[in-house]
Amino acid sequence: MSVVWIGVDDTDSKKRGCTTYVGAQIIKRLESRGYSLSGYPKLVRLNPNCSYKTRGNAAISMMVEIENEDFEDVKDTVLGVVEEFSEMGEDETDPGVVFYKGDPPQILREFYWHTVRDISSIDLAMKIIREIGAEAFWWKTGRGVIGALAAIGVDLSKKKTYELIAYRRKEYWGAVRMIDEESVWEMDKATYPLTFDNVDKDSGEIRIAPHTPCPVLFGIRGLNPEILKKAYSMVKVYEPVEFYVIYETNQATDAHLQPVKICEAKDGVSAIIRGYVKTKPRFTVGGHVFFELEDETGKIHCAAYEPTKNFRHIVAQLEVGDEVIVYGAVKLKPQGLTVNLEKIEVLSLVDIFSVEPPLCDNCGRKMIKIYEEMYMCKECKTSSSTPILRKVQRTIRPGVYEVPPSARRHLSMPLALSRYYEHRQGTPNLIQSPNLP
Ligand SMILES: [Zn+2]
Repeated sequence: MSVVWIGVDDTDSKKRGCTTYVGAQIIKRLESRGYSLSGYPKLVRLNPNCSYKTRGNAAISMMVEIENEDFEDVKDTVLGVVEEFSEMGEDETDPGVVFYKGDPPQILREFYWHTVRDISSIDLAMKIIREIGAEAFWWKTGRGVIGALAAIGVDLSKKKTYELIAYRRKEYWGAVRMIDEESVWEMDKATYPLTFDNVDKDSGEIRIAPHTPCPVLFGIRGLNPEILKKAYSMVKVYEPVEFYVIYETNQATDAHLQPVKICEAKDGVSAIIRGYVKTKPRFTVGGHVFFELEDETGKIHCAAYEPTKNFRHIVAQLEVGDEVIVYGAVKLKPQGLTVNLEKIEVLSLVDIFSVEPPLCDNCGRKMIKIYEEMYMCKECKTSSSTPILRKVQRTIRPGVYEVPPSARRHLSMPLALSRYYEHRQGTPNLIQSPNLP
């Protein structure tokens, strides 16, 4: 017995299709031919900032146990499914499939980390494929080979989560999803934070179902397969579920983020930057909030965009001089490099003061402002340049703030999860199923 790793990417398009569904069909087809998976299939989110990405930028990988003579049959089976289920007619769909026999070498791990945090090229992917003796298949530009290779190299040793994805029967694709919302709230109550992002408490919406005409009925995210099965059993739906698959994933692990100095930040990379608020946050037309952040190496713009809703009002309370850590994707915008905020940690707050005219030494009346920092008593004509400063209570507190679930990146770790980990002083491995490989 040996194992073969299969990586698949970019079978979907912005409009429709779903890489996880192709993955699920591969699993079904392989199992029907007598093969079995070793461990859970992987759902791997890659750099969310690639300009050519589909909405979720997801790739799939899985490890299959084979006898050596079965390798050709496994390849034929997988490639057949990809051809059958990919959205080949769509411009942005560039499927890629990679096969690799044995355990992924270190260079694949490194390629994964590079692809989740930076932009990897087809050339680099092809070079590694040649070096390690993997086999790649692609249609059209071959861009899908990058994600397929990175998905095989996925490193979940530090943090991982799981997602249970339930798929619809084909005759229901495109129809409104009939999910009992009440049952989702009940499920959330019973399983949160071991499951997360089920609902958006601010907007009152349930979050488990997509709104696209794709084959996904709903997906539940959580920290172990057992809690997902329990949560799944609690969700009531009024259509038949075709089947479900539990994926092991890098979602909600912050795998895309890396600490950088401002001078090192570049377009397309997701960053963690510690610095001081340089300009007072301001709302712009369109409802976005912008401010500048400074560290010892430079300045960078930060943005909380309109879809981040209440998060913008937190950011707007910052004052010049506050010390913060910002988390988010760096993008080159007309105003310059801009961090699209996903989270912000407020470390320390400056004191702020209200400025009031002083009282007249002579008569005790409140003076009036005659021009910038110059006050005068209307009666006595005495003047002063020393206003009364009153400390103003800050409305924001030190702590970590995040965007609502509706605006969260797949890779972003929800605060509830960070707090859970801190509390447990460990990683989700601590509550991993004993059945796991
Ligand atoms: Zn006076």
